[in-house]
Amino acid sequence: MPLKNKIMKSNYHTHTYLCHHAEGTVEDYVIKAIEFGLKNIGISDHAPLIFLEDRSVRMSLEDYPIYLEELKQAIDKFKDKINIYKGLEIEYFPQQKKHYEELLTNVDYLTLGQHYIESNNKLKSIYHVKEIEDMQIYIKTLIEAMKSGYFKFISHPDIFLFNQTNISDEMLYLSRLLIQAAEKYDVALEINANGIRKGKITVDKKSRYRYPRKEFWELVKQSKVKTIISSDAHKPKYLFDEAIIEAYKFARDIGIEVEEELVMN
Ligand SMILES: [Zn+2]
Ligand SMILES: [Zn+2]
Repeated sequence: MPLKNKIMKSNYHTHTYLCHHAEGTVEDYVIKAIEFGLKNIGISDHAPLIFLEDRSVRMSLEDYPIYLEELKQAIDKFKDKINIYKGLEIEYFPQQKKHYEELLTNVDYLTLGQHYIESNNKLKSIYHVKEIEDMQIYIKTLIEAMKSGYFKFISHPDIFLFNQTNISDEMLYLSRLLIQAAEKYDVALEINANGIRKGKITVDKKSRYRYPRKEFWELVKQSKVKTIISSDAHKPKYLFDEAIIEAYKFARDIGIEVEEELVMN
């Protein structure tokens, strides 16, 4: 039996075949979103970013026009059935300002997914970050990104805690800086269902997700920041699944009120 969606109205985080590690065209996602009764669907594939192109987890610059064309066609075809927003997920690097501005002439929104930081003049994957110094870079980068005004929401903001078994006071302090900036610049924070989809790990007899991270979201709860839940779907069927239901439960258990929709354009 396919799941019935009674909770989710909007999903703004979705990936297509063009990024080389997801499945489905824009149209496949839109059809699925209509099936699940969503009011708003945002397509936010991994944007081309020249100096990260060798990492092969994003669309290439040559494929970008195909992406825009697929979006345009889907909007023409389905605009009476669902609101479709054109988005992109991308990292923030201050020297790339022109690139973000150019992208924003074609799409409705950018979401920040900071998968890399610049540490000692090298790019470092966020999944390899262990030291507090690198976490400080991550937070500093995110705050600058929010200040830039280019981003509507932050994808998996708590991903910098990926390798941490115990959350120290310093990490909580950094989390607070991030949350305060999100409040100040009115950028929403995302509880990422793809982290839930990846399952729990057990460390020191305690089982938890690598992300979302409870300790982080308990701090969000104390703020006025807008929180959204996204699927971060890499397959159309993930637009609504058990992981989404779990994400809502995760938010409810902490006492976070989730925004049903964001103003996207
Ligand atoms: Zn991805
Ligand atoms: Zn994503």
